[in-house]
Amino acid sequence: MEDLKNKPESYWREKLTPEQYHVLREKGTERPFTGALYHNEQQGIYECAACGHQLFSSDAKFDSGCGWPSFDDPLHRENVDLHEDTSYGMRRVEVTCKNCGSHLGHIFPDGPKDTTGMRYCINSASLKFQPRNVL
Ligand SMILES: [Zn+2]
Repeated sequence: MEDLKNKPESYWREKLTPEQYHVLREKGTERPFTGALYHNEQQGIYECAACGHQLFSSDAKFDSGCGWPSFDDPLHRENVDLHEDTSYGMRRVEVTCKNCGSHLGHIFPDGPKDTTGMRYCINSASLKFQPRNVL
């Protein structure tokens, strides 16, 4: 398998749109309530916009009201990496794609209490949606 974690940034700059590059590779955050997938309610799989790795199922998506697509669990926990992030004077847990190392969003412990209790708060720009009927 190709080692995507050691690709030069020029590879990603060519492959991604400027907005995707900013979020995925520079750990940016899209403005809340603006992402194309925030209100997406179709059934399907959310993939990493950088490498196509399968990250979240629509079954785990819920309306958190926070302004970004929110999930209570990844499709497989081993598909994502978690890192402590102390930037901007906050202590948060960053979520990255296990396959390519790109930034996806953050995880917060205020998700639905009847499932995992976690909220994976993910940028739309980091995701590519594959509707289930074409899988
Ligand atoms: Zn990826």
